[in-house]
Amino acid sequence: MGAQSTVFPDHPESSAADVIIVGGGPVGLLLANLLGSAHVRTWVFEKRETPLESSMAIGVTPPSLEILKQLGLDQAFSSAGVPVRYAEVHESGTRLGRLAFDHLPSDYPFFLSIPQARTVEILRESLRRFSSVRIRDGTEFMGLTQEQGGVKVVLRDARTRVTFETQAPFVVGCDGHRSAVREIAELRVRERTYRQRFVMADFLDESGLGIEARLFFTPEASVESFPLPGGWRRWIVLGDEWSNDMSLQYLTRTVQRLTGFNLSRHSARFVSKFGARRMLVNRYYAGRVLLAGDAAHVMSSIGGQGMNTGFADAELAAALLPGLLKNPIRIPEAFATYDRIRRRACNVAANRAERGMWLGTLRGHFASAFRKHLIRDVLFSPLLRSRLAPHFAMLTIPFRNLNQVPPELLISHEFNHAFYPEHPRCHSNSRSQAGL
Ligand SMILES: Cc1cc2nc3c(=O)[nH]c(=O)nc-3n(C[C@H](O)[C@H](O)[C@H](O)COP(=O)(O)OP(=O)(O)OC[C@H]3O[C@@H](n4cnc5c(N)ncnc54)[C@H](O)[C@@H]3O)c2cc1C
Repeated sequence: MGAQSTVFPDHPESSAADVIIVGGGPVGLLLANLLGSAHVRTWVFEKRETPLESSMAIGVTPPSLEILKQLGLDQAFSSAGVPVRYAEVHESGTRLGRLAFDHLPSDYPFFLSIPQARTVEILRESLRRFSSVRIRDGTEFMGLTQEQGGVKVVLRDARTRVTFETQAPFVVGCDGHRSAVREIAELRVRERTYRQRFVMADFLDESGLGIEARLFFTPEASVESFPLPGGWRRWIVLGDEWSNDMSLQYLTRTVQRLTGFNLSRHSARFVSKFGARRMLVNRYYAGRVLLAGDAAHVMSSIGGQGMNTGFADAELAAALLPGLLKNPIRIPEAFATYDRIRRRACNVAANRAERGMWLGTLRGHFASAFRKHLIRDVLFSPLLRSRLAPHFAMLTIPFRNLNQVPPELLISHEFNHAFYPEHPRCHSNSRSQAGL
């Protein structure tokens, strides 16, 4: 099946697509931008009629900014967000150390704090530059059939409830952790729910903490606080495991008791409670269907890495798909490589997120003393101190960016030469270092 004509009931000008992306969240939109910049004819189908407003992911790491730079979006992101260069860590009122991102070996020596809704907004606006990309909101993915040379997709218009079909050589499921694409493609997941629960809200910031992040650990609960653009600040508190109280009042009371900051007088928005899960798909692809982002993996959001890991999925998918349109015989090999590379990166990120959450949420006086010793005397020791910031900035995640994937690992040399003559070769990595 090549790219064939597509007829949508209320979309007479619709055109053929090479890639269908299901889901216009941050990962689907980034992928659409990257494919657009490679002139790949792309349709994005998003079931929501209007984008989600909640702020969710706020931390955009340097490797993600490097991907955004390829699209000329790094400056737009930087000016819409707040560059966080320092994070101070406290245990029971004692300052344990200060994590400094300002010497990171990157063009972006900070992590950028920007609400997910704004990330989505910038990525959507950017799509207008690419005539080969179209987005259709209010269109729900309902099903797919793999056919010779492509994938037929069933969609439903949210307003009219009319279903219709279209097709493309490739479908990428970027439809989040409850992915219907994953389910219909019969890809299974391994999943685990953590017992920890959190409550968070964004407040107008009068803390005086400026643009620094703060982590307050205590025997009772942990409190995390991050600056946001526009004079707001996010506060996240570990939920009370006994009373199950996850209200805004619980959050403000706990912050005041454990940190001394009084938030009760300030306006709050996006009050939400959330749990933590870990999920990984057993295979990132089925036939001509690929998964990226939360559709493939979920990790504790306390680590702030889920969306960033999805961005790296999108970067690799966008590097592979144009070549595979021309040379589909390589699909099994290329998708298996995508699976290996992204699985390894995801496992490392998810392990870190899990360990970080475990350490930060240990309760009790003995645990507090242990954490104090570990953070102050081990993690902030002269030996490890310089490694901490690159670790938290995701600069030490294997294959953090495409230019960290040795071309010989990515795909066979012959294929690579034909389709990626300008592939940025990584000089330092090797298969053995990569640990594959
Ligand atoms: C509280 C919290 C804080 C977080 N903080 C961070 C952070 O600081 N840094 C970080 O990297 N990550 C963070 N994360 C994780 C991050 O939010 C997710 O990893 C990210 O949203 C994944 O993006 P995605 O595009 O893969 O999926 P989603 O954001 O879930 O987007 C999926 C899209 O697909 C659409 N869709 C779903 N089903 C269909 C269908 N059938 N048909 C059509 N469209 C469909 C949805 O409407 C949605 O728009 C946080 C998460 C939470 C909950």
